[in-house]
Amino acid sequence: MAQSIDVLELTRELIRLDTVNPPGGEERCAFFIAPILEDAGFDIRFHELAPGRSSLVAKLHGKTGREPICFSGHMDTVPLGAVAWRRDPYGGEIDRGRIYGRGASDMKSGIAAIVAAAVNASRHRERSGELLLIFTAGEESGCLGAAGLANLPDPLPPAGLMIVAEPTSNSPVIGHKGALWLSATTRGVTAHGSMPEKGVNAIYKAAQAVLKLQSYDFGLPPHPVLGSPTLNVGTIAGGMNINSVPDHARMGIDLRTIPGLEHDALIESLGRFLGPEVELERTIDAHWLYTDPEDPRVGDVFSIAAAVTGEDFTPRSVPYFTDGPALKALLGDPATLILGPGDPAAAHQTDEFCFVEKLEQATSIYEQIIRKWWENR
Ligand SMILES: [Zn+2]
Repeated sequence: MAQSIDVLELTRELIRLDTVNPPGGEERCAFFIAPILEDAGFDIRFHELAPGRSSLVAKLHGKTGREPICFSGHMDTVPLGAVAWRRDPYGGEIDRGRIYGRGASDMKSGIAAIVAAAVNASRHRERSGELLLIFTAGEESGCLGAAGLANLPDPLPPAGLMIVAEPTSNSPVIGHKGALWLSATTRGVTAHGSMPEKGVNAIYKAAQAVLKLQSYDFGLPPHPVLGSPTLNVGTIAGGMNINSVPDHARMGIDLRTIPGLEHDALIESLGRFLGPEVELERTIDAHWLYTDPEDPRVGDVFSIAAAVTGEDFTPRSVPYFTDGPALKALLGDPATLILGPGDPAAAHQTDEFCFVEKLEQATSIYEQIIRKWWENR
């Protein structure tokens, strides 16, 4: 029988493994976790995204046939940033109820809590349905590891419930907007800057497109939980030198989407709206996520989180996007919630930290969610 895991110590160990993306190096984390789960009876598969960068899929077989419950987290972290840290970003230092380091909130604390809860749960004889754990590489660069799991030799089984352990301070979250990032290119004909009439100016075309985009209407009412979709032109570049007519300009468009907007159809609609002078190409495509709060699979998670934290939660969304939608598509569309110990305000920050209390709570919440899932077989 597997030893129980000290979740705080495990979080510190994971923070000490540098998995800053780029370059990633997520295998350090995957290879550290794998033997712990193997000891608890899990089958382990690695899926290589690139050399040194593997996602990990761990399965604990159930004794009866209930559909699996799944937990997921990403192993990569964002870089340290330009500002000097006061704490060692790879130290896992603990001070006054907080654990510090890159990934402390986003999301090595979440991964450690999943592993600790899964090892505890593995001791239960009455387990029904598989317990599936998915730890991905490459999330911070557009959910690449999660998308790569579509190419597994043995496909993922359809699951009933998935918890994504991104930072929410243990409050269950039912969705987030999608992110669709487009590169928009206009083309022209170059000429000497003293004779612009001999050329076609790509920057003028881009400027017209930008002004048009300012009044783009998604034609959709705001979503009751996720709010309205948005569009922002974040970058624009064009031209080689001041005394030539530019034959090339490019804009970066950041769209945030809600249920009712499918990304392929949205690109088509924008293409028609902007006309043939603007070429659109997607650079990031992360779908929105939404689970109906009335879904019976959701109610238990809310009650367990409320009982453990002593807080009362109402259905809400988060501003960031996650691996959730990419994994949900591979898992037969399970009810999906985001719930993790990290502090959303500390994620990606200098001197990132997680409250030790939240880490311990998350471990207990996850273990109870698993047991409840098995009881309801
Ligand atoms: Zn994250």
